[in-house]
Amino acid sequence: MVSFKDLNLDQNVLTAVEATGYTEPTPIQAKAIPEALKGRDVLGIAQTGTGKTASFTLPIVSLLLKGRAKARMPRSLVLCPTRELAAQVATNFDNYARHTKLSKALLIGGVSFSDQDKLIDRGVDVLIATPGRLLDHFERGKLMLNGVQIMVVDEADRMLDMGFIPDIERIFKLTPFTRQTLFFSATMAPEIERITKEFLQAPVYVEVAKQATASRTIVQTVTIHNPQNKKLAISEKRQILRGILKAEKKYIKNGIIFCNRKIDVDILTKSLKKHGFDANAIHGNLEQNERTNILKLFVDEKLKLLVASDVAARGLDIPSVSHVINFDIPLQPEDYVHRIGRTGRAGRKGKAVSICLASEIKYLEKIEKLLGSKIEKTSNILTSKGKIVLPVYRKKSEKLDDASIENGEKDTFRETETTPSNPKQLTENNEVIGMGEHTPSFLIRKIISN
Ligand code: AMP
Repeated sequence: MVSFKDLNLDQNVLTAVEATGYTEPTPIQAKAIPEALKGRDVLGIAQTGTGKTASFTLPIVSLLLKGRAKARMPRSLVLCPTRELAAQVATNFDNYARHTKLSKALLIGGVSFSDQDKLIDRGVDVLIATPGRLLDHFERGKLMLNGVQIMVVDEADRMLDMGFIPDIERIFKLTPFTRQTLFFSATMAPEIERITKEFLQAPVYVEVAKQATASRTIVQTVTIHNPQNKKLAISEKRQILRGILKAEKKYIKNGIIFCNRKIDVDILTKSLKKHGFDANAIHGNLEQNERTNILKLFVDEKLKLLVASDVAARGLDIPSVSHVINFDIPLQPEDYVHRIGRTGRAGRKGKAVSICLASEIKYLEKIEKLLGSKIEKTSNILTSKGKIVLPVYRKKSEKLDDASIENGEKDTFRETETTPSNPKQLTENNEVIGMGEHTPSFLIRKIISN
């Protein structure tokens, strides 16, 4: 078994890693770190949750120990698609470089230019930035990129989704041809392949999981719902979500609930709060300090449910997420993989539950195609007492809105007469999926066909 000691990292870095409590390198770390330390370009195909951040941060810290930074000329550059991801890389750097004198600056939007200028003026070893903000500084004449010895592009596939590839190409061209490049992406879209061919030199190719596959430690299910009335679909989805949250109450340590649109993030958060759930929203329209505060509450386990849009949640490094719930099926199948990658990280168990309207099935099928497997369908919910609870929806005229539910009326889940006489029997016929005796009731499936 490979240990961190076998990777040729500097002793100061090893001491910091040991203090973090990691006992052995993850596969991407074991493969990428020794090559990066030899000065080679690395092309890493890895999703979040594989330990890829440390796979570039640890060698950078080791490699930069020799030498000193000059004013306005950073020695290394890490490009990230979102502010949150950049902030997390910065935290990783602070952690692993704590026994060294290396300095860093974080250049992200939403923070004043002048504070960032001061840091750059002093000279930084590691500059961590989002592409737009980095180019803003460059154009203001405050930053030179011709001293960059190591450049990292993190989550390149996301950069592509967000339209950052022209910026990345421009930044590549502003750095010296002799730089070392460490390039990471969860998938190899043709456009990504093109820039790796242009800007990487004889890279070591490290792939730790099949392209866009989900971690095996994640139990995935999807609840299909066919609304009687289109107008009620979203409110019915909220009822299903509440049903899932109630059924899962004992098992949810903390969870992220994804919506496709920012506006739905807000509406859903309001509704969850109204129903007494400990939830808050994170999306791109919030001020940076609000996003940071909410994220901190979540990381510190003072907030149980984070309702998020894809962009805001990208790359969040929250090791303890037990559940990911897709309130909407993502339109891009890769987003599903990224979303559920928030759970089941670094070998931990996690659960991903999706709510799918009949109208979203076409997107679900795309996801299943990408995964190369079917996701377990749960059409109903089984209570801990072995009773089947089906979501029963009233006609529009009888429909209880969220407010009336809050005012004491029962929500629209009700038990049906299909309660099995011996619920255990169901589980003995290999009907249970997931985590053995820890399988929450709503993950028990095929009840409808019995
Ligand atoms: P990443 O893929 O970089 O976002 O990392 C995913 C999670 O794995 C983070 O919470 C890291 O703190 C954690 N992690 C990174 N390396 C290791 C390791 N060698 N052993 C255990 N956990 C790790």
